[in-house]
Amino acid sequence: MNAYPDEHTDPAELAAEARRRDAADPLAGYRDRFLPADGVVAYLDGNSLGRPLRAAAERVTRFVHEDWGTRLIRGWDEGWIALPQRLGDRIGRIALGAAAGQVVVADSTTVLLYKLARAAVDHAVTGGRREIVLDTDNFPTDRYVLEGIAAERGAVLRWIRSDPASGVAPEQVAAAVGPDTALVVLSHVAYRSGFVADGPAITRIAHDAGALVLWDLSHSVGSVPLDLDGWGADLAVGCTYKYLNGGPGAPAFGYLAARHHGVLHQPVQGWFGHRTPFEMGPGHEPAPDVRALLSGTPPVFATLPLQAGLDLLEEVGMEAVRAKSVALTGFALRAADTLLAPHDVRVASPRDPQRRGGHVTLRRADFAEVNDRLWKRGVIGDFRAPDGIRLGLAPLSTSFAEVLAGMTALAEEL
Ligand SMILES: *Cc1c(COP(=O)(O)O)cnc(C)c1O
Repeated sequence: MNAYPDEHTDPAELAAEARRRDAADPLAGYRDRFLPADGVVAYLDGNSLGRPLRAAAERVTRFVHEDWGTRLIRGWDEGWIALPQRLGDRIGRIALGAAAGQVVVADSTTVLLYKLARAAVDHAVTGGRREIVLDTDNFPTDRYVLEGIAAERGAVLRWIRSDPASGVAPEQVAAAVGPDTALVVLSHVAYRSGFVADGPAITRIAHDAGALVLWDLSHSVGSVPLDLDGWGADLAVGCTYKYLNGGPGAPAFGYLAARHHGVLHQPVQGWFGHRTPFEMGPGHEPAPDVRALLSGTPPVFATLPLQAGLDLLEEVGMEAVRAKSVALTGFALRAADTLLAPHDVRVASPRDPQRRGGHVTLRRADFAEVNDRLWKRGVIGDFRAPDGIRLGLAPLSTSFAEVLAGMTALAEEL
């Protein structure tokens, strides 16, 4: 049953609707699991940096006193070494649709993207394929990393011109790939518009052309249910500090499908990706499994808030998170139509809930300056050049009343 039926509203109805929806929201109680933020009226940026859980603070304190404080160096043997794979398996099971043994937590999204993309391009270039397909609205760090890899490997970037208000369509990918394609790199949920790309269709199209696909899941994980194994996905990366509440700069995750283990080799071959790291032997031999993606010492401490985030996500389940997410973004769009359209605000996100992720972008020429004023009022969204205010509605920590408070403040500023 759908817990969030659509309603039609006029301005006077919106407040009543927000109250009704919050009262009926099966996820409403989870907001209390997060630390309160004094002076924040509406936090609409959970897609850039998720809020801290109370349990994260407790975990950090406990870890310092009990794990680090008393186990000291013995902690490595007692579980820390296995953490990148243990957490990777958990993210895979709870959020990615990935069977165990294919995901690690390590590095940053940028660095893991480099390692995975280089591994795929190295392999393909050897077989004579020299093109990397990406789109013009791909996240900046992804574009920059691929530019560097192309320069290192003598590969060529082939650009799909994507509409920043929607995203990349399967037909565009079909027109861009061919016998020279080494790798296709796309975001599953576009960072500006929130457009949800057709993961299985695009993966199939790339495979039919003999290419691999690397998905950036930074705006998907913990927001939109994923089925990487079902898609036949090859490689993926994503952030844990957005919808997974891992905290600023928390390590990323990387997925490498089992069939590519021992075939694709990432270039930063450090000791933690060695077959036998503690034999400290003369030359590098990659681990035969997904551990080969690791390079150096795992960032154990930096995974503590993420572990609290995963506990919560597992308790709630991705389907329930997605149901509320669709309702929140739908409510935000109707509030925009009612309160903001009269002020020439345009919606730059998909209307179709199936093609819409967890955030929406609104546009008006003066939004850079308007966003500054909103921040001063404790209404926190973010500005995306040239003229977008992006509202990220993290389902576990955001109420309908909070969305309406933010949209009302925005309307007042206009
Ligand atoms: C947030 C985000 C990143 C950030 O990468 P970092 O290495 O953590 O800075 C990368 N890609 C996408 C699509 C993002 O949304």
